[in-house]
Amino acid sequence: MLKTTHSLIRSVSKKIGLDDEAIDALIAIDNEHLFDIELESGKKLKAYRIQHSNKLGPYKGGVRFHPEVDLDEVRALATLMSFKTAAVGLPLGGGKGGVAVNPKELGDDELEEISRKYASNLLEVIGPDIDVPAPDVNTDARIIDWMVDEYEKLTGDTSKASFTGKSIGKGGSEGRESATGRGGVFALRELLKSEGKGSEDITVAVQGFGNVGSFFATIAQHDHPSWKLVAASDSGATLQKIEGLDAADLEAFKSKRGRFSDYNKSSVRTLGADDIFGLDVDVLVLAALGDAVTESNMQQIKAKYIVELANGPVNFAADKYLIGKDKIILPDIIANAGGVIVSYLEWAQNKSGEHWSESKVNAELEMYMVTAMSETLKTAAAKKVPLKDAAFMNAIKRLL
Ligand code: NAD
Repeated sequence: MLKTTHSLIRSVSKKIGLDDEAIDALIAIDNEHLFDIELESGKKLKAYRIQHSNKLGPYKGGVRFHPEVDLDEVRALATLMSFKTAAVGLPLGGGKGGVAVNPKELGDDELEEISRKYASNLLEVIGPDIDVPAPDVNTDARIIDWMVDEYEKLTGDTSKASFTGKSIGKGGSEGRESATGRGGVFALRELLKSEGKGSEDITVAVQGFGNVGSFFATIAQHDHPSWKLVAASDSGATLQKIEGLDAADLEAFKSKRGRFSDYNKSSVRTLGADDIFGLDVDVLVLAALGDAVTESNMQQIKAKYIVELANGPVNFAADKYLIGKDKIILPDIIANAGGVIVSYLEWAQNKSGEHWSESKVNAELEMYMVTAMSETLKTAAAKKVPLKDAAFMNAIKRLL
């Protein structure tokens, strides 16, 4: 993912005439904080906070708990964050954090210990105007609440603006949990409108039915009855129904920790997890993890539109190949920016001591997404480049 991120930045920067020195400066990471978290049990975990750029505002980005977290992945994600906040016009920079751990193997006490130690280790280098972490894969409001609590206990800060993604009672924002999925729906709506397909019947497949994928699917089902969810996958299986799956029912099944391989309905076909890539659909939404589409499976893709809701789900080579096949890729730094946009709105509410209604938050989110899509489509048309290049061009212009 780091290679993909750097290749992309280099290739777009060259198209707008930047020299190597300017490109190196765009890619350079401001600060890398690497440390061990030592648990009372004696376990030692590798932990990271990478601060890529604060040219446009405080570093901003999630903290991921996942066994495969490593330095290069966090570097890539931190870099992408700076370009994402810039591409959607937020006054924020980019950072990312992670702990190499499988939270599914931990009890609540250990999760709390890791969360508190993560915050206390970073005390000097994070804060409301320095670096504002948020949830990411396998981290949620409960984990962030522990981190904020630790940060406040040790610093005396009471602004609640040190982290975003908090629970509502601890200063969180309405609409944060659904924001990334909802933002993806707004982005796809704008893309289809620009293609003259605003009111056409569209078939959709969603790879990854976690937080982002399930909100995307349920909000799309509610807001766009003409978009039919014909397939959805998790890490174990793909569910397919040509007449359309019920996103709300899938979400209810998943929320009870259900696995799609155990979803037993006679009208629904069960396929392998990777079979989703080759399905004949209009839109393929990638909402699982990075590097989902690579040289090994890019030839299978039939969908005309690919929505990158995960970070970096299409690698550099696959991106080039798919663009060559006239596919349209809605890039991650726009498609999944809903989360950081509402994180920004949460931070702004904390800073001003306000608490907005969900409808106000959603309306602000829509405004940011519509503006970002319009700017991206405009640059793509003017420069005759794919949407990903256009989004990066707009971001680079702001970062410079
Ligand atoms: P999550 O852990 O809630 O969901 C991920 C889902 O993907 C799970 O259901 C898992 O079963 C599934 N999955 C894993 N491997 C798979 C595979 N090979 N095939 C199919 N499904 C697979 O995580 P999330 O919060 O929904 O995040 C998903 C992606 O979106 C990540 O890349 C994350 O970085 C990105 N993202 C999340 C947010 C956010 O607000 N949560 C914001 C921006 C980007």
